[in-house]
Amino acid sequence: MGWQDSSSRKMVWKSINEENLNKRKVFIPDAPKQLMQVLLDAGYEAYVVGGCVRDFLLGQEPHDWDICTNALPDQMKECFANYRVIETGLQHGTLTVMVDHVGYEITTYRIDGEYTDHRHPDSVQFVGRLQEDLMRRDFTVNAMAADISGKIRDFYDGQFDLEHKWIRCVGDPDKRFTEDPLRIFRAMRFESKLGFAIEEKTEDSMRRHRYLLQHISAERINTELTGILMGDCYSTLACFPDILSVCIPEIKQCIGFQQNNPHHNRNVWDHTLFAVSVAPKDIYTRLALLYHDIGKPLCYSEDSGVGHFYGHAAVSRDIAEKSLRNLRFDNQTIKLVTQLVEAHDRTIEPRKPVIRRCLNKMGMDQFLRLLDVKEADYAAQAQIYGDRLHKAEILQMTDEIIAAQIQQKDCFTLKDLAVNGNDLIQLGYKPGKKIGMILNQLLEMVIDGIMENDKAKLIDWVKNQKGV
Ligand code: ATP
Ligand code: MG
Repeated sequence: MGWQDSSSRKMVWKSINEENLNKRKVFIPDAPKQLMQVLLDAGYEAYVVGGCVRDFLLGQEPHDWDICTNALPDQMKECFANYRVIETGLQHGTLTVMVDHVGYEITTYRIDGEYTDHRHPDSVQFVGRLQEDLMRRDFTVNAMAADISGKIRDFYDGQFDLEHKWIRCVGDPDKRFTEDPLRIFRAMRFESKLGFAIEEKTEDSMRRHRYLLQHISAERINTELTGILMGDCYSTLACFPDILSVCIPEIKQCIGFQQNNPHHNRNVWDHTLFAVSVAPKDIYTRLALLYHDIGKPLCYSEDSGVGHFYGHAAVSRDIAEKSLRNLRFDNQTIKLVTQLVEAHDRTIEPRKPVIRRCLNKMGMDQFLRLLDVKEADYAAQAQIYGDRLHKAEILQMTDEIIAAQIQQKDCFTLKDLAVNGNDLIQLGYKPGKKIGMILNQLLEMVIDGIMENDKAKLIDWVKNQKGV
């Protein structure tokens, strides 16, 4: 069995990794090695490069292996004539070569030309030396390569910064962030993902160049924002609300906004970032928490010195919808996130009818997400009211409802109701609206616990109504 398919792959990886890490040599799996060998056999250079070298040295399994080479695009095509290839990036020097249905990006050494639109280099220039290619890469920890034997090439102190857990630009940060301001968000993503700190000059330059992010396409921002939120993002959100505000301007009002309410011991932004970072790493949950109180500054009122935010969930929901659309999130994400934002401050009583109704409205996955949102929200509030969520009780009841639903003894959707339209037709009802109304009425009673989900009992009830 190949190591890629092995169920104990993680274990295998760990032992390979430890052995090679001690020698500071990158262990390159068979598939990328084979592709490097093809290039070497044709007389070209070939190195694995970027994230895979970084992740290997961090003791993590790389999720993809990128290769760079001095072969020019046409020469690469010639080398891989017997492979299935995808040529979409060839203009920029990238050929994707397939091995066992996995694509490997192979890129000609290049330096990027001017970025006059701050989005794409106007041109790329192919170069002859590895060192020049590594110079165009964003951060020192991403600018290392390894040859086929695993020997590391590190011209910009990447290993030193990796050991000290620093994100530092390759070269002059001002120049690098002006060329491609997305790197500002990338630095934040790597800080959150790797738990590194951003080196001082790099950080200072990020802040000064943050307004250039306005020129970056929403799709590119979206990917990095998602990456930030899915990492250990507490300090990134705490340190860079000014940068995030360029893409989500409504955050600005939340920074330092005092709540003057005994529920809260943090201002709106501090509460938000705490809630996001204690939540499970699920993108819908974390986006919902990022936006859940964003409308609060617009809803503030005071009563005898106590702050209130009546209606803020609906205002936050509207802001979230607009903002997520601007950032080009897909419709499904927008739907799920806005539903959570809107519902985040509704009380969920630990009673089965309430839970059945929630399950009916949102489905199991989304209901569990809502519980996570509420739990994180409460965790980020002043702990003076004890357990207000009753999560354990709610989960217990949810389990009972689902277990009974499987045995067809409980239900929260029409699909699972023990009677259907045909049963009513057999009782003499004509196909039409009336049948739908009766079925819904039965479902309501089952949800409320007034009736069992039992076919005979439900039919009896219908007969009584009809006077049959
Ligand atoms: P991840 O593991 O999260 O994918 P990565 O380092 O592989 O991290 P990618 O976005 O896949 O990140 O990019 C691959 C490599 O290309 C990076 O390691 C870096 O060397 C280089 N790179 C990518 N985007 C940029 C950029 N905007 N500016 C400069 N270099 C970049
Ligand atoms: Mg990558």
